[in-house]
Amino acid sequence: MFRIKETVLESISLAAQKVYPNEFISMLGKGEKEEIIELVVLPAVYGRNFSSIRVDLIPFDNKVVGTVHSHPGRNNNPSSGDLKVFSALGKIHLIICWPFNITDIKAFDRNGKEVKLEAI
Ligand SMILES: [Zn+2]
Repeated sequence: MFRIKETVLESISLAAQKVYPNEFISMLGKGEKEEIIELVVLPAVYGRNFSSIRVDLIPFDNKVVGTVHSHPGRNNNPSSGDLKVFSALGKIHLIICWPFNITDIKAFDRNGKEVKLEAI
């Protein structure tokens, strides 16, 4: 299980709606404890059915714990491309699907196995 601030969930929901029909993508930042407390927005390319993070721009301060991105359809399970990113970029990964409510968010570990999220 992973803990995440409710305000972060709300930000993800809003951002995904805003860039739709493109994909929203961001990194997740943690605080002192193993809790997601903020979005770490990086220069990213948004596109229809593709998004890419500039891996070279990820800060090396151990604050980044994973990623979040949106799917324009009803499916919030990881694609094979997502699984590659998951294994390379941190231990917790969120996917939000249309219509981008907080309840449309699913969390996965680096192996693509679904994990529970607890809002704090
Ligand atoms: Zn995806």
